[in-house]
Amino acid sequence: MKNSKLIPAVNYHLWEPCNMRCKFCFATFQDVKNSILPKGHLPEKDAIEVVKELAKFGFEKITFAGGEPTLCPWLSKLLRTAKDYGLTTMIVTNGTRLTDQFLEENQPYLDWIALSVDSLKEETNKASGRAIVGKRVIEVNQYKEIVEKIKSYNYGLKINTVVHAKNVHEDLSDFIAYAKPIRWKVFQVLPIEGQNDEKVDAFKISQEKFDQFNAKHKSLEDLGTKIVIENNESMQGSYAMVDPAGRFYDNEKGKHNYSDPILEVGIETSIQQVNYFTEKFIKRGGIYDWKNNSNLPNKITLSGEVASGKSTVVNLLAKKLVYQFLSIGNFTREIAEKKNMSIVEFQEECKKNPELNKKVDNEFLEHCKTIKNAVIDYRLGFHFLPDAKHFFLKITMKEASNRLRKAQRKNESYKTIEVRNELFKDQFLNSYGLNYTNPDYYDNTIDVSNLTAEEVTNHILSNLRN
Ligand code: SF4
Repeated sequence: MKNSKLIPAVNYHLWEPCNMRCKFCFATFQDVKNSILPKGHLPEKDAIEVVKELAKFGFEKITFAGGEPTLCPWLSKLLRTAKDYGLTTMIVTNGTRLTDQFLEENQPYLDWIALSVDSLKEETNKASGRAIVGKRVIEVNQYKEIVEKIKSYNYGLKINTVVHAKNVHEDLSDFIAYAKPIRWKVFQVLPIEGQNDEKVDAFKISQEKFDQFNAKHKSLEDLGTKIVIENNESMQGSYAMVDPAGRFYDNEKGKHNYSDPILEVGIETSIQQVNYFTEKFIKRGGIYDWKNNSNLPNKITLSGEVASGKSTVVNLLAKKLVYQFLSIGNFTREIAEKKNMSIVEFQEECKKNPELNKKVDNEFLEHCKTIKNAVIDYRLGFHFLPDAKHFFLKITMKEASNRLRKAQRKNESYKTIEVRNELFKDQFLNSYGLNYTNPDYYDNTIDVSNLTAEEVTNHILSNLRN
């Protein structure tokens, strides 16, 4: 990068193939395919290495684009690699392959999904080629279902719209108001020599027409969506991009300028061969709160009644947030085992001797302090960790009995539920004068009797993010 300091976000166009045929597409990469990369993509192993190099070099966010990135069989591995290296991750997709399986499997590694939606009209999408093999368009209801799905799995939602001659007169307000993406990116269709110059003329629009489109949608910002407008000028030289052959490229002069391959010459050399302008990146709104989780507290505690599934939910939540899992129960069990006592016996001991209880709490709290981001299974978390968010899980006695009967846990049967619930209450009253079941202590109380652990986890995630 000759011109300035590192742009912190990079777009990796990892894959040339696409199942749509948008005539204005400025990422066709036919030049790359015809010259050095007949398959249109690197082998899996090399693509993973490219991601590692980008992360090690200092990029903070990576957007996987194509072609259509969800066609790539190793996309999940790339996402996982990026996440393991601490990057914020995003994909740009036409939405045709966002199955529940994809959304569920990639939840721990993928932060954002940018869905491309240019028009809700069949004739417009057919005319522009925004359709599967240029023929089968996504209908309005299908777009809405895709949006619902993305949100139900708690991804950050972005919508990308390319404004061109066929959709510039349309009004997408109802759809955007329905979808309420965190960001709506509105692009003026971009001619790029060697990518779309044979077809793009019929789609070009003037700045004036582009401005009119944006003026029509301006009030949508009042609904909380950040609208990011990019005309041709602002898109040129303001994106750090890697092509399917693993080379940096820029579009400063209206065509792709490719570096040598990152894996051949090294990332420092290859980035010096392209032109990116950090000031333009900042000016077009490239820096924002992309750490979708950054509004989340560092610590989240779960409290709840016996057999409410706290530990399972804490585990799931920690996995989805890539936080650490901590449990006072496990901590206490280990102490009880060392004393050759069952957990119930140890609780009774604590009831008789509140100092013992306090000692366990203090040791556990010291341990919590050493961990930055954690989801903590801890009934007294609301008291000891005031900066955390606190959730309480309650359950009917009938359902709790069913669950414990099925679990067949050592030394704990359904007959002990009431005893254990009362012991916890007494224990905390004796030691701290606190009734931990009081809903006032919690940010949210959830009745989990009819919910799966996955549903409870998603409920908490959505509560945290909204
Ligand atoms: S869906 Fe995206 S990558 Fe595929 S043709 Fe359309 S604009 Fe290009």
